[in-house]
Amino acid sequence: MTDVLLRGGRPWGLDSPADILVRDGRIAGIGPGLTAGRVVDIEGRLVLPGLVEAHCHLDKTLYGGPWVPHSADDTLAGRIANDLARRGELGVPSVERVSALLRTMRSYGTAHVRTHTDVDPGVGLRGVEAVMEAAEATGMDVQQVAFPQHGILTNPGTAELLEEALKSGVAAIGGLDPAGVDRDPLRHLDLVFDLASRYGASVDIHLHDGGTLGAWELELIIERTKALGLGGRVTVSHAYAFGQIDASTQDRLAEGMAEAGVAVATAAVYSFPVPPIKKLRAAGVVVACGHDGIRDLWGPYGSGDMLERAMHVAYRSTFRRDEDIELALEAATYGGARALGLPGYGLAEGDRADLVVVPAGSAAEAVVTHPPRTLVMLGGVVQDG
Ligand SMILES: [Zn+2]
Repeated sequence: MTDVLLRGGRPWGLDSPADILVRDGRIAGIGPGLTAGRVVDIEGRLVLPGLVEAHCHLDKTLYGGPWVPHSADDTLAGRIANDLARRGELGVPSVERVSALLRTMRSYGTAHVRTHTDVDPGVGLRGVEAVMEAAEATGMDVQQVAFPQHGILTNPGTAELLEEALKSGVAAIGGLDPAGVDRDPLRHLDLVFDLASRYGASVDIHLHDGGTLGAWELELIIERTKALGLGGRVTVSHAYAFGQIDASTQDRLAEGMAEAGVAVATAAVYSFPVPPIKKLRAAGVVVACGHDGIRDLWGPYGSGDMLERAMHVAYRSTFRRDEDIELALEAATYGGARALGLPGYGLAEGDRADLVVVPAGSAAEAVVTHPPRTLVMLGGVVQDG
């Protein structure tokens, strides 16, 4: 493989322009005045590490097909019923649709994806298989979470299928509102954490349960993460409760999550509460972000662009200062990489050469304007777009 030199860019986090030398899919050097056989001039542009989509639902997507007007009513029960009623008719899950979305994500510079795939007696493991096939077809790095969208305890047969999914190589086990959906937080969480521990899987739990109920469930998750030594491998997605509890409880939980190694993934969608990102980061909690659903029966929105998603996260967090807005980009890059446990991630020598070049003067500008990508390189290979 010929060496490639990205010349004259401004790698995010460095004070001055630097060349980036890429060899065998890795960053072989970073600094001024480097040389190589093939040179790509990126004069003055911002260089970011590959973007990380840490929470989406690829299996549900209708992306790439004809526009489907939203047909569910405005209740959770209505959305679930609509999803179950129409997914067969619309051919969901579809390898073609998932592949189309993955290609679009890549064109925006997304290098790694974590997706929650429905696993239940209705769909079985068809979603898991479709996503695996699409990942293989597109060559994208996709980490799946076996996701009990309709509950575990309240939906008999789901626990066995979740275990099947882990046996088939799915990297993470999901959960969903241990109280609100499954009505028994202790049993729900014990089941999820037991599977994680037995199969060496990561944990990523959807927690919409709000207020003090959700806060208590966060405590239960912290306790189990510590007891099983799963620090660094557990994520709570959404964690709406965080945005609804009093400041001192927020502080206590943030400290507990940082100490236990529990990350938070936020999607900042619609008007749902966004966890206090600034406070969480100050306490040392890993914060990641993602789209949640993209063009599916749950809602018509989502582009696949993680810079645009970072903008939504910053906007919903009412961030105005550059250093605050930059936290949203951190969630879409380093935070996601830590939540997903990605090795060799970043802009240092030896890291995987997943690089995104954008015409922006700063991280904040890249988030606010989310401009067209000048160049996307994945594993040292410049992508066609
Ligand atoms: Zn979700």
